[in-house]
Amino acid sequence: MVKIIGYDIHDVRFPTSLTGDGTDAMNTDCDYSSAYITLLTNSALVGHGMTFTIGRGNDIVCTAIREVAERLVGKETEDLFKDMGATWNYMMADPQLRWIGPEKGVIHIASGAVNNALWDMYARSRNKPLWKLVVDFTPEELVNAAAWRYISDAITKEEALAMIKEKAATKSERETLVRKQGYPAYVTSAGWLGYTDEKVARLTKEALAQGFDHFKMKVGADQANDVRRGKLIRSIIDDPQFLPPGHKPRDPTSEALRGKNAGPTGAVLMVDANQVWDVQQAIDYVKGLEEIKPWFIEEPTAPDDILGHAAIRKALKPYGIGVATGEHAHNRMVFKQLLQAEAIDVCQIDSCRLAGVSEVLAVLFMAAKFGVPVCPHAGGVGLCEYVIHLSLIDYIAVSGSIERNVLEFVDHLHEHFVTPCSINAHGRYNVPDIPTEGYSIEMKKASIAEYEWPGGSYWVGRAKEDGLKAQS
Ligand SMILES: [Mg+2]
Repeated sequence: MVKIIGYDIHDVRFPTSLTGDGTDAMNTDCDYSSAYITLLTNSALVGHGMTFTIGRGNDIVCTAIREVAERLVGKETEDLFKDMGATWNYMMADPQLRWIGPEKGVIHIASGAVNNALWDMYARSRNKPLWKLVVDFTPEELVNAAAWRYISDAITKEEALAMIKEKAATKSERETLVRKQGYPAYVTSAGWLGYTDEKVARLTKEALAQGFDHFKMKVGADQANDVRRGKLIRSIIDDPQFLPPGHKPRDPTSEALRGKNAGPTGAVLMVDANQVWDVQQAIDYVKGLEEIKPWFIEEPTAPDDILGHAAIRKALKPYGIGVATGEHAHNRMVFKQLLQAEAIDVCQIDSCRLAGVSEVLAVLFMAAKFGVPVCPHAGGVGLCEYVIHLSLIDYIAVSGSIERNVLEFVDHLHEHFVTPCSINAHGRYNVPDIPTEGYSIEMKKASIAEYEWPGGSYWVGRAKEDGLKAQS
């Protein structure tokens, strides 16, 4: 019998605040961090998982992870794997920890790290990457693996099962196609607020040359400045001379680009405000960005404000600008209401703000039923490694659609992972294909040793340097 006997937890922080990576109107000083756990068994089998934070507080999440993981110690792995939906309910149901949620905040993202580690372990135990484990489930197994509590007013298990069964016969065709072509991606790293115009222009040209055709820019600090930066990006992505050799412009009137305000080369621009505005402010500000023709405004206001998002979407409709959100939507009920209130054009799940794969599956089912494309949030550290698995599950086994979807890609910190994600020559994610890579989130031991906070070699060196500076 394989049993979970313990765990290792690491607080790992990367000093990204030194370079301005990850800067936006709300998050100005980010040290991308991982609250990382490895679940250990009485065999060679392990499960790696993490959740993402942007620095201070990562230690608090690690403390919460310990509390949640403790619930799994002593359990037999096959008992946990045989009904991952029931296992998820069990993980959430600690009668005392529940009080410091429920299903939100530190305890929820900690639960995400542990649930993801358990799914990683499950995939490794079957010698398949996580996405492949899940798409090979029977429709019944897939539906049973999700978190179902509190969403039956939006979708029932029976409805989900019927939807999944409809897609089951053509799964292998989609798997073959996506293995060949890769999964469509968009790039955010050209448009951080902390970058100079020269850097933005250079990175945009580089992204075009890599085959990307969807680009995202951070906005919200200064409207005139945003219009100027948006025009700069547009002047590059709309100009056929910057397309990679042999790359034909996409038809901006095609079905795949419908409603996306694509320019003459078929390039799409999105803007992201990271929650800075009140509702009316958001409406007024984004109307003023009409000239740069964004497909959507992402996170225009507080992430919990479902009716606010609905009002913004309604007001921006005449301007042809949509609304996207989800990276801070803290549980499936928020997504349920965003969908029910017709508040979003694009559903941006986050792989570790939701409490792991089981809760993500519930949101994938709801989004497919409501016909809203899922374009996961990524970036940070580890998120790109995770989300390619979720988008593959969505395409192959749940929604069956890929034409209008794009998965965020940020080219930061992948070198710290044993099996990093990668992008092909057409600006698309490659399909993770190593049988032993699980959920692709195993961090290199050397990276943990260097960046563990506060005792890793990098942080010890930095503390010494700061000490010397303070003396001089
Ligand atoms: Mg965002």
